[in-house]
Amino acid sequence: MKKCIVIGGGFAGLSSAVYLSEQNFHVKLIETSPKLGGRAYSLTKNQFNDVYDNGQHILMGCYTNTLDFLNVIGTKHLLEIQNSLSINFVKRGGEIFKLTAPDRFYPLNLLWAILNYKAIPLKARLKIIDFFLDLICCFPDDIQNYTVSEWLKIKKQDDHTIKSFWEILIVGALNTSPEKASAAIFADILQEIFLNGSDNASIILPKVGLSELFANPSKQYIESKGGQINCSEKLVRFEFGNDRVVKVITNKSVYEDFDYVVSAIPSNSLRKIIDDQSIEPTIPSFNYSTILNIYLWLNENPFTEKFYGLIDSKIHWVFNHGQHISITISNAESYKYEDNTKILKEIYSDLEIFFPIFKSSFIADSMIIKEKHATFIPDIKSTYERKKINFNFENLFIAGDWTNTGLPSTIESAVLSGKNSAQNVINKSSC
Ligand SMILES: Cc1cc2nc3c(=O)[nH]c(=O)nc-3n(C[C@H](O)[C@H](O)[C@H](O)COP(=O)(O)OP(=O)(O)OC[C@H]3O[C@@H](n4cnc5c(N)ncnc54)[C@H](O)[C@@H]3O)c2cc1C
Repeated sequence: MKKCIVIGGGFAGLSSAVYLSEQNFHVKLIETSPKLGGRAYSLTKNQFNDVYDNGQHILMGCYTNTLDFLNVIGTKHLLEIQNSLSINFVKRGGEIFKLTAPDRFYPLNLLWAILNYKAIPLKARLKIIDFFLDLICCFPDDIQNYTVSEWLKIKKQDDHTIKSFWEILIVGALNTSPEKASAAIFADILQEIFLNGSDNASIILPKVGLSELFANPSKQYIESKGGQINCSEKLVRFEFGNDRVVKVITNKSVYEDFDYVVSAIPSNSLRKIIDDQSIEPTIPSFNYSTILNIYLWLNENPFTEKFYGLIDSKIHWVFNHGQHISITISNAESYKYEDNTKILKEIYSDLEIFFPIFKSSFIADSMIIKEKHATFIPDIKSTYERKKINFNFENLFIAGDWTNTGLPSTIESAVLSGKNSAQNVINKSSC
């Protein structure tokens, strides 16, 4: 049995470890934190016996690698999958506008959804449809030197349409502004979501907490195949010899008995470890952006839908979890160091403006989580740097949402990178 050490217990490391275990590798997974899941995990609010995540994670129908992965670990049934795209957008005063595609007649159903999205004027809707028709013959490589904002201007999308339609999509999908995001990566994901079948545009929400969906069943799967998981153990350095890793040195042990190593830690952690050793593989350096999550536990819950997108509000999304609602603000740089009391005051006020049915008096308790390094910014520089990643070691492979998957910083990118790294190990071992 070949032995592989996987470092990092986020979704990339878990995916790598699961796929290697499936192919009868003996896996030892090393994770510095006491918990698995990396940037996506669950917590419990004891007072209400309620589970909540460190941030609402949305999956989409186009997350095919994630859906396959959940199938392997046996939790795909714990997802709520829309039949076709359906989002309720809310304007000040509480008026709801539906962006809803019928579940048949693709691709006309998606055009129908836009044509009937009455939050914006008909002329703007027609321009958006025009944009999507152009997207069919768009080659993302041709626009790799443009930002999304520049690209939308070239495509004659006016400021109002950008603000009330495109910005919501861009900030939601890329967690950054149209001025920073790379047009090429945005075009890629638009093509994947809207031009590859109706199911790809469906929104998928977990019915359970992220840890119950991903981390815990992955752990069970790996252990059931004889693998070992060491939490609270940190990779400190590698020792190299003849272009191979010969020792994996952690704060607790020195490992020499292995055939392969997969590093599934964030790029900045890997840079530190490799830099220390004056070896020069190319590892991109990213800028990161923040996601702010506000949780409100309610005595009375007046919300009827599963989730809402807000138009022209500080709040981007409201998710209804019954006992609590979670509020997401993406690209939340301006809130990074903001005082929590001030944030709550602003949020209560916006909620009351957008949802007249909501009263601050319904709130029993609140919580704020600021994820300051939630996702890397998929700007033009990072798109180039990811393509140049060069890792020439015989037995060391890399995974992580930041590797060159062509996807933004998402669960799908992490899971795909883990699967790719496992496949690379398997290919190498059969040489
Ligand atoms: C608030 C929030 C909301 C998000 N929303 C969405 C969403 O809606 N949809 C979506 O698809 N994605 C979303 N994401 C992004 C998604 O969570 C990440 O892309 C994904 O979890 C990254 O997984 P990863 O395994 O690549 O990295 P990570 O999760 O960062 O995992 C890396 C792991 O390596 C460990 N590690 C680091 N250094 C060492 C070391 N020296 N030794 C051992 N272990 C080490 C870390 O502790 C960590 O567990 C969101 C992220 C956040 C924070």
